[in-house]
Amino acid sequence: MRRTLPTVEQFVQGIRSANRVILGQAITLVESARADHQALAREIISELLAHPSANTLRIGITGSPGVGKSTLIEAIGNHLTNRGQRVAVLAIDPTSAISGGSILGDKTRMAALSANQLAFIRPSPSGDSLGGVARKTRETILLVEAAGFDTVIVETVGVGQSEYAVHSMTDLFMLLLLPGAGDELQGIKRGIVEMADLLVVNKADGDRIELANQARAHYRNATHLLPPKPSGWAPAVVVCSALEGLGIPALWQMVETYHHHVLDHGFFEENRRQQAGYWLREALDSSLKALFYSHPSVHHTLQHLEIDVLEGRISPFTAADQIMAAFTYSNGASNSPDHKHQTETP
Ligand code: GDP
Repeated sequence: MRRTLPTVEQFVQGIRSANRVILGQAITLVESARADHQALAREIISELLAHPSANTLRIGITGSPGVGKSTLIEAIGNHLTNRGQRVAVLAIDPTSAISGGSILGDKTRMAALSANQLAFIRPSPSGDSLGGVARKTRETILLVEAAGFDTVIVETVGVGQSEYAVHSMTDLFMLLLLPGAGDELQGIKRGIVEMADLLVVNKADGDRIELANQARAHYRNATHLLPPKPSGWAPAVVVCSALEGLGIPALWQMVETYHHHVLDHGFFEENRRQQAGYWLREALDSSLKALFYSHPSVHHTLQHLEIDVLEGRISPFTAADQIMAAFTYSNGASNSPDHKHQTETP
């Protein structure tokens, strides 16, 4: 299989020269569950990271289904590509992991932007956990940046934990809102409002303009009451109509103001450093979990003890202790006194 794939060198050159086919193949490697694909993907990324891409901006976008995320991303994408800039759009859709269906993937989205040579759109990877899906997207960001897409938009849907994952891999977090309703009514958790750097009241058109302006005033007051952000940035609230393209230049202006603010205050670099540390821990956590659950002793003991736990014969905590003991014992066996004695005997 590996022989039919390009070499690491060919991948790296292809990606750096923005070859979309090679870029797509590299992302497929990142998304693959196969160990050899994963290893190859890692080699490619290490090579690319030796010369990191400068001046990129990663934007996270969330909001309830139907609020207008894909319409807005298309409007922003057109705004940027009209100015000759290149934009990549990635997605994290937790529903593809949970239900097998997906909220973001089911419809044909961003049709015009998909056909634009200056844009690159990749749907959400699938996976058996949000962590897995998020990690693939985090690595894909590095690939598209290396291919020269200097604005990367990561979209997610406001239904769960995925906002935190997107927040931890982007420089700016944008929350889309509808005119009129308060955030509780829109089903948006306070924690998500607190993460936002930019709140965007969309669908400010037709008879909703007045409602949209009221919503802007409401959110401006609400954000004043939030604790100050580590970036020192006070969240901004803007109004737009993604469908009619109204307010898009002003929205982008605000994105640039934010970008300058965090660059000038040193937060941009520091935040990316912190995020890299976070993803190191995440990767370790998931590797440890995989190692643990795939261990034969753990598998065996868990199967046995789970029945006892379900039947109430043993407490879940005692069972967990015993399963951990099975793991540590079998891993430590090679260091057991007997073994040491043998290896130390000349
Ligand atoms: P998403 O689920 O958040 O990605 O939402 P979509 O972008 O698919 O939009 C959902 C619906 O809202 C579609 O029918 C859009 O045409 C419509 N829509 C999106 N933005 C606007 C807007 O600014 N004004 C109006 N009137 N409709 C919009």
